[in-house]
Amino acid sequence: MTPPHTGLSAALMAAGLICFLGGMIVLQTRRHAPGAVSLMVLMFALSWWDISYSLFWAKAPAPYPNFWLYVTYAGVVTVPAALVVFAMQVSEMDEWLRPLFIIGLCIEPILVLVLLFTDPWHGLYFAGKETQGIGMLLNGGPVHWANIVYSYLLILIGMVILIRRFIQSTGIYRKQLAVILIGAGIPWLNSIVFVLGLNPLPNVDNTPFSFTIAGFAFTYALLRFRLLDILPIARHALVESMSDGVIVLDVHNRLVDFNAAAERDIGLSRRPVIGESVERTFSAWPNIAKRFLMVNDIRVELPIGDPPRRVLDLKISPLYDHRKRLLGRLVVWRDITPLKKAQADLQEQAIRDHLTGLYNRRYLGETLERELARAKRGNHPVSLIMIDIDHFKNINDTFGHNMGDSILKSFAKQLLEQTRIEDIIYRYGGEEFLVLLPNVTSQNARDIAERWRTSFQEAHAFHEGEKIDVTLSCGIAEFPLSGKSSEELIAAADKSLYQAKAMGRNRVVIWQDTTR
Ligand code: GH3
Ligand code: MG
Ligand code: MG
Repeated sequence: MTPPHTGLSAALMAAGLICFLGGMIVLQTRRHAPGAVSLMVLMFALSWWDISYSLFWAKAPAPYPNFWLYVTYAGVVTVPAALVVFAMQVSEMDEWLRPLFIIGLCIEPILVLVLLFTDPWHGLYFAGKETQGIGMLLNGGPVHWANIVYSYLLILIGMVILIRRFIQSTGIYRKQLAVILIGAGIPWLNSIVFVLGLNPLPNVDNTPFSFTIAGFAFTYALLRFRLLDILPIARHALVESMSDGVIVLDVHNRLVDFNAAAERDIGLSRRPVIGESVERTFSAWPNIAKRFLMVNDIRVELPIGDPPRRVLDLKISPLYDHRKRLLGRLVVWRDITPLKKAQADLQEQAIRDHLTGLYNRRYLGETLERELARAKRGNHPVSLIMIDIDHFKNINDTFGHNMGDSILKSFAKQLLEQTRIEDIIYRYGGEEFLVLLPNVTSQNARDIAERWRTSFQEAHAFHEGEKIDVTLSCGIAEFPLSGKSSEELIAAADKSLYQAKAMGRNRVVIWQDTTR
């Protein structure tokens, strides 16, 4: 029988309580950090292990001598599983941690515990080789050894995951992983010490101490490098919830990552698969993949579809590692179709007259010059018809401003109906209009204007059943005969109009007429 060992028992009790505290701190403050859940399980399992081992050494009352050693096993079997899950969580291997995987990890510990406590009935755990009187379960049967092999295998897998992650990581992540790795190395060191027979207290199992140190290294890593767990969460939450499409490509143009917006935007009937080629990912937008396959750094406004139905603001940026080696490319895009449409609408509004929907005087300034230049190049005439409604003031005064407005609107409508697509109609002033007719001589323009004049006169407006007689006058100028610049041409048309008014209104006058 081992004698009570007060010092050791107290040390274990302290370690157990500290582990419990560590678990509580993680629970209270870092619950949502990657690895926090498995770390809590690990810390509570360690606490269990330390405290029950402390009770063993304190010779606490027990139904049979090794009872408290058996009880430690609830912690012993949980620690390797928790450690491997912790390694996976801090290495962002969460996609592996499906419920089935976790259930699978729980099977072995439960089985071992059941077989340990029920050994007297089947002997599968100890096979009659249980050593009484020393401070640990040193020897046993198949289940005992299988559990040792399984546990160290899990810890080894955890180590491999952590080392792999450590190699890939950079900056502050690397520091955090270094602390975690050092912690995970302690139990191994302890095992080597034990196997080499260098154990300072021969009959005492140092394993709970070594795992306690490991647990503390993990907790320290999680608490000390707070930023880390914020970053991946922020990255994930941010990138996923972004309305911008985000995809990451490696140097071989294979898909490494994408967010929900990207998946929705690309408009594939299937989910993109990590590792597929960029051509496949962008099969709905083949010209994008082709155009930007080799471009590392660009920002473009990209119309999508033929004819374009959407416009994307697309940005490609290179991704480098800490040694400035190219890792791949980040492609981010935003659908700016509504913005472009709003822009176009605004532009349209700026050049349109509110009442009639015709182009305004400002647009005349923009377009007349251009049309004259084009006519000059094409060596063809342009006619300009200036129209003014006769005695419009009287209409307003007699029938009201609203009636005036409605006459202006219906005249604008008439003009739109009676012109060709290439003709441009402007509201020049209050009741003055200008119509630009490319490739039309003033003689032809006169016929056209005559048609407008008669239709307008015949399209009587009515006020309270009473017919309103309203007429218009037109002045016509022809480029380049009447004027070589836009100012000269407008002045010529204006002069002709003045002439028409002077001649009694309700008529069309060509510029030549005025100079004759
Ligand atoms: P004429 O051209 O035959 O010499 O006579 P007029 O009475 O048409 O001439 P004037 O240019 O003096 O009057 C134009 C009138 O048009 C003055 C103004 O009240 C009216 N007017 C200008 N803009 C609008 C508008 O948007 N709506 C209405 N209802 N009237 C307008
Ligand atoms: Mg006028
Ligand atoms: Mg007038």
